[in-house]
Amino acid sequence: MKLKTKINIWSTGMMLLILLVLMTIIYVSFSRLVYSTEVSQLQADVDALVSTFNTSDPADPSDVLRGYVPPNGLIQAKREGTDLIPSIQDPDIADDFPEELPEQSGTLKVEDDLFAYVTAPIIWTDGEIAELVVAQSLEEVVNNARTLGLVLVTVSLLAMIPIFVSSVVLGRVVTKPITDLTKTMTRIQKSGQFEKLPATDSSKDEVGQMGSTFNSMMELLEENYTKQEEFVSNASHELKTPLTVIGSYAKLLERQGMEDPKLAEEGLLAIRTETDRMKALIEQLLHIARRSETQLVWEPVDLIELARQTAAAMSTSYNRDFQLVSSATSVLVTTDLAKIKQIMYILLDNARKYSSDRIELIVKNGNIPMLQIRDYGIGIPKESIPYVFDRFYRVDKARSRETGGFGLGLSLAKQLADAMGVSLEIESEEDVGTTISIVFSADFNVQEVQSKQEGWS
Ligand code: ADP
Repeated sequence: MKLKTKINIWSTGMMLLILLVLMTIIYVSFSRLVYSTEVSQLQADVDALVSTFNTSDPADPSDVLRGYVPPNGLIQAKREGTDLIPSIQDPDIADDFPEELPEQSGTLKVEDDLFAYVTAPIIWTDGEIAELVVAQSLEEVVNNARTLGLVLVTVSLLAMIPIFVSSVVLGRVVTKPITDLTKTMTRIQKSGQFEKLPATDSSKDEVGQMGSTFNSMMELLEENYTKQEEFVSNASHELKTPLTVIGSYAKLLERQGMEDPKLAEEGLLAIRTETDRMKALIEQLLHIARRSETQLVWEPVDLIELARQTAAAMSTSYNRDFQLVSSATSVLVTTDLAKIKQIMYILLDNARKYSSDRIELIVKNGNIPMLQIRDYGIGIPKESIPYVFDRFYRVDKARSRETGGFGLGLSLAKQLADAMGVSLEIESEEDVGTTISIVFSADFNVQEVQSKQEGWS
């Protein structure tokens, strides 16, 4: 069912229901008020009749009482259920007016006719007390109430016309921007472009908000799509270079290499180097691709111990000077040991590649625990610092190729750091050196990061 139709049905239906309830309340209250007024009026008449009757001493009580019979009513005088005189009544009134009455006064239905009745004690002509019953048909009042009911129903039904018209208008007003929005979205979907919706004046209402959310979503999608495209083209470009080298040497060897041992050796070396390079690149790409699948394993880690072990391992592997610098004996954090090591190795590898002096692993305690990797190498130009975490970004492409870099290390480190809720901060000055800090949040909440990660995967 269309939203417009739903709005029509609901608003008209609800209004009809509200009106009917209101009208019923008015009808019932009015009828009750009128009936009780009639009973009070009759009570007053009966009081007057009793006092007149009691003060006079009529020879024939029926004569006196006849003068007080209300129009369309009756008067009866009884004692212990026996009529003292025949019922004095209008000939149109039903004969079977009940002998027993439920209350002293009130209303009563006899054969579809409503009566107001009052009973009162009276001193009969024999000096004994008798019961006087005076009843009056409420036919006229009932007819008036019915007319009122009819008027109320007619008014309610007539009121439905403007209500229906306004609900149709409301439906149109509400659904028009949504219909426009859907049309634009369908057009965008068909064109396959990251088009945005035109800005509307109603940008502050819910529909406007939906439009701006759609636009932000489009922006994000476009940005991600562009990044993916860039990533794929960079990755294929990086893979093409070693493949070209391998292909050229293979062709060369095919043509003449086998006869020339020197050329064969050179070709094989180049092929092996390029294969290693390609393997390293594919491994890094796989690391990045697998990021969303990785689960974090939280455990307490002593940063001092970790830095000491890593510095020793790096010194042995690269025969370089990696030093632990810290005044603390133990700095405990809750983190994923494997991932933090992976980040450290990326940073230490860069420090090693882009410097020749000593490399420091500085562990800082205090409010915010921190592990810094500091080198005294070539540094990063100021204008390049904001981009070093981008995939495939390299400050100096030629030199990076010499060092075997693809520009993927820091972007992978950043992804890991984000997943763990730690931040990476860079300070660098050209020809002075670079310090990259792994900053552990002070009010670090493991659960928070875990739930964040569940959201990502
Ligand atoms: P790569 O594999 O090329 O090192 P990264 O993503 O790790 O890729 O680093 C991106 C670029 O940032 C590097 O190409 C390099 O130019 C620069 N860089 C990173 N770390 C350092 C550092 N410690 N000293 C100088 N330059 C660095």
